[in-house]
Amino acid sequence: MVHLIGTSTYILPEENDQHHEALPHSDGRHGEMVTGALLHSRPRLLGSRSALAAVDLAPLPALPLGAHWLCRSRRAQQPLQVRLHAARHSSASAMQEAGDDGGAASSRDAALQAAAEFIASDACRSVCILTGAGVSVAAGIPDFRSPGGMYATLRPELITATERQRMLMASDPTYVVETSMFFANQFPYLEVRRPFILGTQAHRWKATIGHRFVELLHRHGKLTRLYTQNIDGLDYQTAVPSDRIVPVHGTIGKVQCEKCGAEQDYGDFCDAVKSSIKDIYGEDASAPAESSNIACVKCGSPTVKPATVLFGGSLPEAFFRLSAADLPSCDLLIIAGTSLVVSPANSLATRVPPSTRRLVINNEPVGRELGLQYGAGGDGDGGGGGARDSFIGGDCDASFLELTARLGWLDELGEVRDALPPASQAALDDAAAAALPPDA
Ligand SMILES: [Zn+2]
Repeated sequence: MVHLIGTSTYILPEENDQHHEALPHSDGRHGEMVTGALLHSRPRLLGSRSALAAVDLAPLPALPLGAHWLCRSRRAQQPLQVRLHAARHSSASAMQEAGDDGGAASSRDAALQAAAEFIASDACRSVCILTGAGVSVAAGIPDFRSPGGMYATLRPELITATERQRMLMASDPTYVVETSMFFANQFPYLEVRRPFILGTQAHRWKATIGHRFVELLHRHGKLTRLYTQNIDGLDYQTAVPSDRIVPVHGTIGKVQCEKCGAEQDYGDFCDAVKSSIKDIYGEDASAPAESSNIACVKCGSPTVKPATVLFGGSLPEAFFRLSAADLPSCDLLIIAGTSLVVSPANSLATRVPPSTRRLVINNEPVGRELGLQYGAGGDGDGGGGGARDSFIGGDCDASFLELTARLGWLDELGEVRDALPPASQAALDDAAAAALPPDA
């Protein structure tokens, strides 16, 4: 049986015929996904439960993968053309997952070795990397999506909002970061993000081994571009030049007016957040009891916020321009710490040429819906050996550390040891100690 995901949000690119696919955010509880292609390519939010509610589910099970059908977005009131990208039957997919776990250690080892050998080889001249929240986990960045994350623990009753707005946020916490909500009421965004904004200002979080691995790729002349879905700005703590970094969903480290686009002073804005926005988490005794507006220095509108992309907002132009330029000659696409369900960032995985190797570093294999094919069940090619797609499971920081060690880059990573978060420092120390006695 095929189900459409109940909680889904779409971000669609603007006026770009090549990037029509949209994939809902998975909430992790549903294995099935659909991708949609808009007939009208204007950026807008289509999701949040209602978007695909009008789809007639009855004919879905009979549709083959890749089939198209029309449905209507309730909110946008526009016809959608939706394509069934992957429909996993729950029992079959459970068996497949179990099969993937068999022989996981040996295939992981093989995948690590194959990846290191390929990166070190002359055949690997251009690496693009797409990162998600998983690479920032070791930094202790608050997670928005996972169970226990900010969305799951959101308490709308504490947020400065109307009853209707609270109901919307209760039904779908992503309304906090949605365009129409923000223009109607800026406080949900600012109150929920307050600790993140102030923590970023205070440099509370540090770049992880995952971020530093990208820096090492750059140092060794392999990095073409880092596409990060993270808004935490940790990538900019590294020596990777900022023109090599595309913050696909914007960054919290810059501040601008959502209405007029005027950039604002970062420090002034953070000070204003501290003095004008209440603390719904009850951790800052100096916070005001009530929130008040923060006005744009240019237009006076209270729509100043970190330069993150709201749901329904346009992605940075650089994403489309640079990915179109980078992907055709990409030898290796590393996909790290992302569930690959947010469009259009996930389109990188499908837009690279067939000759491009794809390496997924994540706590679970992702992207099958997008056509990634790992070595079947731990047998066959053993996860490495010439296969186009490979998967390295487990914690991101640990995997990047092992890759660093196999590439012989541990000493270089050691140069930034003190700038790593404590957990990453400890892992690096362990790896360095293990590397000391030669194996033979
Ligand atoms: Zn303004």
